[in-house]
Amino acid sequence: LVRLRARLSRSQNALGKGLLTLLSREHLDEDTWEEIEDTLLTADVGVQPTQELVERLRERVKVLGTRTPDELRTLLREELLQLLVPEFDRTVKTDSNLDTPGIVMVVGVNGTGKTTTTGKLARVLVADGKNVVLGAADTFRAAAADQLQTWGERVGARTVRGPEGGDPASIAFDAVKEGIEEGADVVLIDTAGRLHTKTGLMDELGKVKRVVEKHAPLDEVLLVLDATTGQNGLVQARVFAEVVDITGIVLTKLDGTAKGGIVIAVQRELGVPVKLVGLGEGADDLAPFEPEAFVDALIG
Ligand code: GDP
Repeated sequence: LVRLRARLSRSQNALGKGLLTLLSREHLDEDTWEEIEDTLLTADVGVQPTQELVERLRERVKVLGTRTPDELRTLLREELLQLLVPEFDRTVKTDSNLDTPGIVMVVGVNGTGKTTTTGKLARVLVADGKNVVLGAADTFRAAAADQLQTWGERVGARTVRGPEGGDPASIAFDAVKEGIEEGADVVLIDTAGRLHTKTGLMDELGKVKRVVEKHAPLDEVLLVLDATTGQNGLVQARVFAEVVDITGIVLTKLDGTAKGGIVIAVQRELGVPVKLVGLGEGADDLAPFEPEAFVDALIG
């Protein structure tokens, strides 16, 4: 975790440092406030949260009068943390029903890191002593099932798969059935995400969800978003939220961007918490999202 934190802070603290430097200027004139706004917008914080934050900062800086660097840091830390909604419950739930395995559906556009995230999550659960079954319901991308199975072998989870181009809902069903029969603790279902046919996606994910829910309650629907795609990620999030009830967000590739503000924007957009973050391609590069640690990494 310490290593991941270091990586996060390396990629992210451009934003926080920039803000602190700007706030430390002797005269906070309109140009400076505009620069602060630009810094936030460039980091993908989003228009509304940026406006709110700047308004709060203006007010608090005015009350403060003379500002010491420590006071500014504390102030900025508090306000950023507030925007990250610290009260959200960010645990990934897998035990809503004790009679059946916990079921987690992983959704998102292809290429965002869905399969990788499913594999990494399996690793975390297996390390936690859980018996995990993987369902390779992404039958659209040719290599997805192989990729998931490789992850399964690596981390010690069984993969249920079907023929290429097969029916995702029936594979999800098989995975859940197998999970129940084996007395597994958790079934993770990797799905396909082709966004260009929204009705197709809606039909497919809806069907997977319905079929699964006939047999066991769904604990989580995790939406995987690529942090490097910025505002585009928000558009994707909106579409998926219309199709299925998202219960949590996984923000991947946060190691490859300084635009950490997307965490704020996407939580705001969907009203659900970022639960996990991807900080690299390796098996251990999935971390719980911790708002306090994140803000500390931002400010440096
Ligand atoms: P899917 O199509 O959504 O299942 O995407 P994949 O899981 O195949 O991931 C697409 C690419 O992104 C792969 O090369 C992954 O190794 C890479 N990837 C996934 N998560 C992360 C992450 O958190 N950080 C980085 N740097 N790369 C990632």
